Amino acid sequence: MPRLSDSERKIRENICPRCGAASETGELCGRCRVQQSPWFSCENRVICTFCPTCGSRKECGVWTDCTADKDEIARELVRRAVHVIPDVVSPLFGITIRDQSINRSLAEVTVEGTLFGEQVNSACQVEILWQKEQCDRCNRISGSYYEGIVQVRATGRKPRPHEIRTAARIAQEIEEGCYTAGERLSFISDTDETKDGLDITVGSQRIGQEIASAIVQRLGGRISTHPKLVGERAGKRLYRITYSVRLPRYGKGDIIGVNGRYGEVLHATGKDIKYREILTGMERTTKEERVERYIGNIRDARDYLVTFREGNIIGVLDPDTAISHECPVPRTTDISPGQTVRILKDGEDLLRVG
Ligand SMILES: [Zn+2]
Ligand SMILES: [Zn+2]
Repeated sequence: MPRLSDSERKIRENICPRCGAASETGELCGRCRVQQSPWFSCENRVICTFCPTCGSRKECGVWTDCTADKDEIARELVRRAVHVIPDVVSPLFGITIRDQSINRSLAEVTVEGTLFGEQVNSACQVEILWQKEQCDRCNRISGSYYEGIVQVRATGRKPRPHEIRTAARIAQEIEEGCYTAGERLSFISDTDETKDGLDITVGSQRIGQEIASAIVQRLGGRISTHPKLVGERAGKRLYRITYSVRLPRYGKGDIIGVNGRYGEVLHATGKDIKYREILTGMERTTKEERVERYIGNIRDARDYLVTFREGNIIGVLDPDTAISHECPVPRTTDISPGQTVRILKDGEDLLRVG
């Protein structure tokens, strides 16, 4: 057997055993490795399920709100339908989408990259089916589904217009917060002003509780809950809850008469009232039933110009008649001529409030 020289051995070792082309390692060359590796695959169809009413999307059985437009969604789905093995270095995708009909689009996909030192490229088509389905939220809203009602009432009176407005605004803010947090079923399906107050119909107990608590936190009062069994759903007992919000007889900003003096309500639960004596500025607490009189609310007060001050007396000008009046204020209050103050009239008495 003839002896091979070193250089001859090297040539024999450094060729591809499959195609005979040069190979640095003596193993399969790049081109043959590429041919033996299925590096690219492509699903030929993707389905996008969306709600025609609100635009939410369903993925893996779960609905989520969606802010992306149709083209963005299509690109993302197509991109996910194309699979390239990790050995491909810096793959580059080209995606062109054409709408074929209302519920069908076609994507032309090209991929190029480097695999085992060789330039590779490929192409495929992906069909996108746009499937309409009513989402869980729209389904519940259109089916008048609800889990609770927040009823805003007041003790011994009808809720005042500003309380109705505040309660409705709080409810709306909370609904927006739930929506942003992805709590899809925490919606308000109806807000109705009745002769007794305000009824807010809600899609989940969670939002009902949250709205009721926030109203009481802002306007005072108390909540009681009244569950009612209405049936079963998927083996679970289904309750509807009435969140009864009872605003106190006297609320924040009300001006009241207690112990023959005037007070401005700071906080009220429905039993106890915390108020500030208008004449002395002192904070006091009393029971609701000890209030002698309701005088008004600081919202009814008007701006008066201060003309002079002597100790605990200020002179103010009536904005209607321009007649000067005197009004007692706490000695410690920081008021000087030229300023305006909020004044509420009770007969002949001028009360500096706010
Ligand atoms: Zn080869
Ligand atoms: Zn929807």
